[in-house]
Amino acid sequence: MATRESVKTNVLIVGSGAAGVTAAIEAREAGADVIVLEKEDHLGGAAAISGGGCCLVQTALQEENGIEDSPDLAFDDWISFGGGTADEVWARYYIENTNLGLFEWAKERGVEWVRVNQNEGNSVPRWHLPKGGGAGIWQGLHKAALDRGVDRWLTSTAARELIVDQGRVVGVRAENVESGEMTDYYADTVVLGSGGMSSNIDMIHKYRPDLKDMKVLEGSHVGHTGDGYGMVTKVGGIQTHMDKIWFYVFSIPDHKDPRGRRGLVVRGFPDSIWVNMQGERFHNEDLQGGASGAPAMFSQDPPHSWTIIDDTMKDGMVVGDPQYYQPGTVRKDPPKVEVLFRESPHIMHADTLEELAVELGVPQDTFVDTVRRYNGFIDSGMETDPDYGRPLANRRMLEKPPFHALHYFPLARKSFGGVKTDLRCRVVDKHYEPIPGLYAAGELAGMAGGHINGDAGLEGTMLGPCLFSGRVAGAWAAKEAGFGADVIASPTRD
Ligand SMILES: Cc1cc2nc3c(=O)[nH]c(=O)nc-3n(C[C@H](O)[C@H](O)[C@H](O)COP(=O)(O)OP(=O)(O)OC[C@H]3O[C@@H](n4cnc5c(N)ncnc54)[C@H](O)[C@@H]3O)c2cc1C
Repeated sequence: MATRESVKTNVLIVGSGAAGVTAAIEAREAGADVIVLEKEDHLGGAAAISGGGCCLVQTALQEENGIEDSPDLAFDDWISFGGGTADEVWARYYIENTNLGLFEWAKERGVEWVRVNQNEGNSVPRWHLPKGGGAGIWQGLHKAALDRGVDRWLTSTAARELIVDQGRVVGVRAENVESGEMTDYYADTVVLGSGGMSSNIDMIHKYRPDLKDMKVLEGSHVGHTGDGYGMVTKVGGIQTHMDKIWFYVFSIPDHKDPRGRRGLVVRGFPDSIWVNMQGERFHNEDLQGGASGAPAMFSQDPPHSWTIIDDTMKDGMVVGDPQYYQPGTVRKDPPKVEVLFRESPHIMHADTLEELAVELGVPQDTFVDTVRRYNGFIDSGMETDPDYGRPLANRRMLEKPPFHALHYFPLARKSFGGVKTDLRCRVVDKHYEPIPGLYAAGELAGMAGGHINGDAGLEGTMLGPCLFSGRVAGAWAAKEAGFGADVIASPTRD
């Protein structure tokens, strides 16, 4: 369909999630006129359905809780957990600015930080939870943007390509996905915040051909289909670390997805055990993260597993998907979760362990021995499981029938690599020179700069950098458009 309309603004933002909303606030506060394009029929992206946790360093909340942290300590944790492949300059920039540049900044704009938790790889607790989780933080920031006059949030409007004039990006050609109409949005500068590729299994296979023969589920917000990468490549931008993808392994296929591609993240079974197709345990089930649980499952043959619970454990089930869960509530719709538990073809039930083994297709004797052996550790009062080092204090045995098993597969959640940018979030070309007029932030830019996390993230190191890099991109995009006196730099240093 022919292009029909043309619209002009100062800063055009693609994507209404974490990076998009902070870029909008920043650009508007600088005085720029802003339009946000969003391809879905709803705003908020992954940010609004996320847990909301942000890795923040040396904050007032840590201090209130007696937690002694420092940017140097956080930097050391970050770099060693990332296996030496993180972008050190961006990691430093983010860490030093998390206190004033994100914790306090968001607070001043209506976000309430309520708790700080410990996560794998962190020397001290740093995972800061906002009130209302991801929905809470995104709604707070969206309101702040509206209050400041950002009032053009165009849903069902998908950016399709960048408009270039004499080497400069001057806008975006976008499609109204309902009518098919195309519109050219002209802008002084463009910020891309269109998210990663974890909901596009074909793209994941492109960068991880080793996963082609495995069942890997799509698991981010539906908008994470990797639209931004192609647009950037077409104008000479480069990508880096695209094979770094963060997987979770506590997820079952969504049987309602007609394409059979999406997964549902399942939580709430702290006493379950994981059993492979040989009927054996293979891991300390408490270590579930992308750096521990995922490699353990990928090394199984085949790379999926069954999570076993008894009947006393089933009521804890939480499904981390908007169909079943809203952050801020434990179970939005218990009957729906219960129906899923009963009716999913990926959840099995049986009155005895022997019968369950048959349902799962695992060797019966081995499976029954596995469960009995594990129960025996708890029954005899052991503090630690001698097979995999799992702490056993206050742990429940799997003894009350019926028994249940959930079929867990790897699920792609976050893109750790992405579009390469400099510290102003300017997209760079193969000569590492900025492409005039073009900025990228958030997961599209591997959360910031191209690969801020490296091989593994300390958790909270996705949403946090997306929010922060959105700020940076918005501020510099506004400045290049002729607005704003200063840029973000209020580091907290040891
Ligand atoms: C369920 C879940 C829980 C999570 N929990 C945490 C957590 O607790 N802590 C943490 O650190 N990270 C978490 N994450 C990751 C974090 O939420 C994301 O990395 C972050 O939100 C990405 O921000 P973004 O702005 O890049 O993308 P998003 O917030 O997803 O926003 C991108 C937006 O761009 C839109 N878009 C895409 N293509 C186009 C196009 N062509 N035109 C217009 N719009 C487009 C998308 O529809 C989307 O709305 C979680 C992710 C998920 C899915």
